Amino acid sequence: MRLATISGRISLITASDTVIDLAGHGWFGPNIQDAYERWDELLEFSKTITEPGTPLSDIPATEFGNPAPQPRQLFAIGLNYAEHAAESSFPPPEEPPVFTKFVTSLADPSGTITLVPGKVDWEVELVVVVGRRAHRVAATDAWSYVAGVSVGQDISERVRQRVGPVPQFSLGKSYPGFGPIGPVLVTPDEFDDPDDLELGCLINGEQMQKGRTSDMIFPVPELIARLSAITPLLPGDVIFTGTPAGVGFGRTPQRYLAPGDELVSYVRGVGEMRHLMVAGY
Ligand code: ZN
Repeated sequence: MRLATISGRISLITASDTVIDLAGHGWFGPNIQDAYERWDELLEFSKTITEPGTPLSDIPATEFGNPAPQPRQLFAIGLNYAEHAAESSFPPPEEPPVFTKFVTSLADPSGTITLVPGKVDWEVELVVVVGRRAHRVAATDAWSYVAGVSVGQDISERVRQRVGPVPQFSLGKSYPGFGPIGPVLVTPDEFDDPDDLELGCLINGEQMQKGRTSDMIFPVPELIARLSAITPLLPGDVIFTGTPAGVGFGRTPQRYLAPGDELVSYVRGVGEMRHLMVAGY
């Protein structure tokens, strides 16, 4: 199943690529967070839909919003791919480094991203959205607590991120617009293997990152087990699962986002986000 926020309303995309506005079905409000709060009801309801809906191809990409706009908790994982750890001058971690992106950084899967002073970098990531309250779950059960996955960009201003005396990951990655997610949420059962997805990003058509989630040091089930061992994960919560190699600060010479750059971020089987960088501040 695929779920989206389209024109601000919770929408289901059927297997035949038609769009059903779920907010028109009485018991769901227009906000997609409702779906995560009532995930089992939604799964049951989705099996009963027979109406034709609107062709997906009739809907402009700009109508798609963030499919996980109101997490109560947002977790982000650092150094979760060995090659990215190496380009960051770290050994592969024995514990996943965890930080947050504050929720005001969340943004839609298309539009502009306003650059800030410093060094603004890209990090394409698989985003996981929680569908059931998860506390102390085993890795072997973890996917059953996931509503679905989407594409995320963990946009990062590297100067603030690394300012002393200890790094400020959460602040450096939380300027407005620095956390776009979308364009759709795809349930794990839609993939042959949800632990092996291709993801990448391009700037002005040039491939910058390309990786596979099977290269994660801590795969999604392991992340959920380790996070939920401490903190209950709540419906609608978001996990940015880390970025593969190819970010700007790891390149020689280093490269950062500039006004006019177009950033395209994708996860194969989910879709792509498209953002234009604009000057600001
Ligand atoms: Zn990241």
